[in-house]
Amino acid sequence: MNDHVQQNLKIIQARIREYEIKYQRVPGSVALLAVSKNQSLEKIQQAIIAGQKSFGENYLQEAIPKIQFFAKENLQWHFIGLIQRNKTRKIAEYFSWAHTVTEKIIAQRLNDQRPQNLPALNICIQVNISQDPAKGGIKLNEVLPLVEFCVSLPRVRLRGLMVLPTQNSLSNEQATVFSALKILYEDLNRKGFFLDTLSMGMSDDLETAIAEGSTLVRIGTGIFGSR
Ligand SMILES: *Cc1c(COP(=O)(O)O)cnc(C)c1O
Repeated sequence: MNDHVQQNLKIIQARIREYEIKYQRVPGSVALLAVSKNQSLEKIQQAIIAGQKSFGENYLQEAIPKIQFFAKENLQWHFIGLIQRNKTRKIAEYFSWAHTVTEKIIAQRLNDQRPQNLPALNICIQVNISQDPAKGGIKLNEVLPLVEFCVSLPRVRLRGLMVLPTQNSLSNEQATVFSALKILYEDLNRKGFFLDTLSMGMSDDLETAIAEGSTLVRIGTGIFGSR
């Protein structure tokens, strides 16, 4: 049953449309990122055949061969894993997005290492709302200085904020985390930063994330089955 990638994709897309209506979101305002970490080339191929263009990967060693394999498909690859300082060059070279920027030095390196023949790298700042030691991300009060720094860099384009709630947390706890990120996002936009991306929501908290304002959900097991 986990082989039915195309069917799963249709179901997830239908759920996204359903929740957009249910929570009075603009139709089509929530994008779907297919998280393909630990998934085979065959499964990714099925998703591509079904029309999926954006894929998320966490590990560079695993991602780069996949990106190279599908180079002719005109896909967008999003890096959603932990960014190690010495691994920024490959991210800048191979990806369209990085969701997990947490330090000036990382933003600076992605900027400096972005190849000139590619458009600016889209980035999000990862925020650790609940200050969960098991998750990456910076504290709320560290966000504004990093935002100001990122928008000064010409070769990265700050698109928004990303959060990863504590695993197996209750749905009302997830809602609190998502809504705190949304408030921060709106506050930054009131300050004049042009952010358009709230990267929040995975297979298990998809509905809560859309209810709370997500513009991009990152779905792995819901599309590809268990890893
Ligand atoms: C693995 C992963 C996902 C996808 O999680 P699922 O529960 O499989 O949908 C989303 N975001 C990040 C950052 C991940 O590491």
